[in-house]
Amino acid sequence: MINKERMLNEFLQLVRIDSLSRHERQMADALKEKLSAMGYEPVEDDAGGKIDGNAGNIICNVKGDKKVPAVLLMAHMDTVVPGTGKNPILGDGVIKTDGTTVLGGDDAIGLECILEALRVLKEDNIRHGDIQAAFTVGEEAGLLGAKNMDYGKIYSKYGIVLDAGGPIGNVAVKAPSQNNVKAVIKGRAAHAGMEPEKGISAIQIASEAISHMKLGRIDSETTANIGVIKGGLATNIVCDRVEIAAEARSRTKSKLDAQTAHMKECFEKAAALLGGSVEFAASMEYEAFNVPEDSEIMKILKKAAADAAIELVPAATGGGSDTNVISGKGIQAVDISIGMDKVHSVEERVLVDDMVKAAEFLVSIIRNIA
Ligand SMILES: [Zn+2]
Repeated sequence: MINKERMLNEFLQLVRIDSLSRHERQMADALKEKLSAMGYEPVEDDAGGKIDGNAGNIICNVKGDKKVPAVLLMAHMDTVVPGTGKNPILGDGVIKTDGTTVLGGDDAIGLECILEALRVLKEDNIRHGDIQAAFTVGEEAGLLGAKNMDYGKIYSKYGIVLDAGGPIGNVAVKAPSQNNVKAVIKGRAAHAGMEPEKGISAIQIASEAISHMKLGRIDSETTANIGVIKGGLATNIVCDRVEIAAEARSRTKSKLDAQTAHMKECFEKAAALLGGSVEFAASMEYEAFNVPEDSEIMKILKKAAADAAIELVPAATGGGSDTNVISGKGIQAVDISIGMDKVHSVEERVLVDDMVKAAEFLVSIIRNIA
């Protein structure tokens, strides 16, 4: 049985640890210690060095019945800013922040649910297959830990990522793929007062391009956004260089490709029209995932939710998570809600009962895989 007091105390302890992206050292050490105390042998991979961070992913294999498919349980160790000196406040069954930082329940609730589930499996002698627990680094900085994990060592058939919000039972089964777009527009510098006709304004090219660009919500599964524009030195110089960072997302690859091509065309047309040039580059940040209603993992989740008296609500999400990365590696994976609320803000909060329910759901999922 889930031990509410134990979960609450450990969660409060975990969120007090500073663990910003690429600075997960203390959190990684604390989790290793806890897993070792349970009798397991957690290992740390070399992702830290690859992403310029001070800790790698922590991976812990828990041996189980070989006849049962293995499952990868995943949560990330890092938090967003402001996230140093977190001071959680408990009152009326809610854990809040003191208003100066995020709570870091994203994703310490996920970490805590996995720790508690591992303890309960042992204490209650629950039959299970191999469990691979992976605590990742740098998720908030672009899924960096998950992208740099050694998948030669991951043999799980199923993946349960604990990193979604909403009522317990919400499960993200579809998420978009994302392209990062970079455009460098080049014009020609000239004195803005004495010979402006000799100049070509990169800012004008950028505005011409963007004014013709479809942005925002493109359709029900496609979005696009210009996020950053940099350029210009002084009012008396015709600007010769503008750098633009943008993104496009879609749950359908062909739509993502079409939107990306459209953005490129807008830049190129504007540059040609005004006599400048553009260097355009698009790179895939992560792949989409789409778990069908009749897949094995969904059947397991349905049964597990019913057993735990939880209403299962499969939904599409517009965001990316470690789920996108492991799905791309061929693991049947979903992202389940752990009850985190108002994440990435100083109003972040979680109900203690939701945290307990999320852990119960996780144990029920593991039980049902077996
Ligand atoms: Zn998260």
